[in-house]
Amino acid sequence: MKPKIVIGNWKMNKSFDEAEDLICQIEDKLDEYNLETEVVLCPPMIYAELVTDHANDENSHFYAGMQNVSEFENGAYTGEVSAKMLADMDVAFCIVGHSERRKYFGETNAIVLNKMLRLLENDIVPVMCCGESLEERKSENHFNVVQKQIEESIYNLTPEQMERTMIAYEPIWAIGTGETATPAQAEEMLAFIRSLIEKKFGTEMAVNTYILYGGSCNAKNALELFSQQNVDGGLIGGASLKPDDFVKIIEAGETVLHEN
Ligand code: PEP
Repeated sequence: MKPKIVIGNWKMNKSFDEAEDLICQIEDKLDEYNLETEVVLCPPMIYAELVTDHANDENSHFYAGMQNVSEFENGAYTGEVSAKMLADMDVAFCIVGHSERRKYFGETNAIVLNKMLRLLENDIVPVMCCGESLEERKSENHFNVVQKQIEESIYNLTPEQMERTMIAYEPIWAIGTGETATPAQAEEMLAFIRSLIEKKFGTEMAVNTYILYGGSCNAKNALELFSQQNVDGGLIGGASLKPDDFVKIIEAGETVLHEN
């Protein structure tokens, strides 16, 4: 079994002082462990330097991530931040295609693909989010929706690019709602996503690709979710803002790794 990855998505939360305090608290708690689980913190972009400064410390237990990037290389795109700029700040991971960005900022599968390509050109790992709405699940369309999201983005990558890419399955009905997918639902969809990767890129790539679950994952349910064969870790929203809960989720990753 490969070590789990736990990514904290802070969304648009925390003042500068609160962000620094949260990073320090997580850092202090993780100091007690000899961790194999990989941890990524994705604060708001304005705190890029803050998080990379901490991540670059030689005793650091986490990587710096971001929540978004421009689909363009550079130029007259007011308000945008390029992948090259993130790379210059030592950002190592970046979430793309989060359902909130798809919903509120019109991010399509084509835009998601462009963002992934910009990140990969700059050696930043894209964490590509996919997932269905409640209506799509109720009408039993969830597999089709996720397949289309994967085919229109991931399927355009070369094998070399795919090797450096991660996927997060986040059912929209579970994000920030307190309603988690059952371990069986998460496992079923992650196994399906892995089969899509296998079809396009072969078995070895499918086995090696990190596929995470996200959606109301918390300190109580992380162990059961992470115990599923195809769940390689979690993308954590609300619970990543609470240091004790976030560290418990990381501990769940360690427990599963060492029990197998
Ligand atoms: C997210 O925003 O990616 C997420 C999973 O949020 P939450 O954990 O709060 O459901």
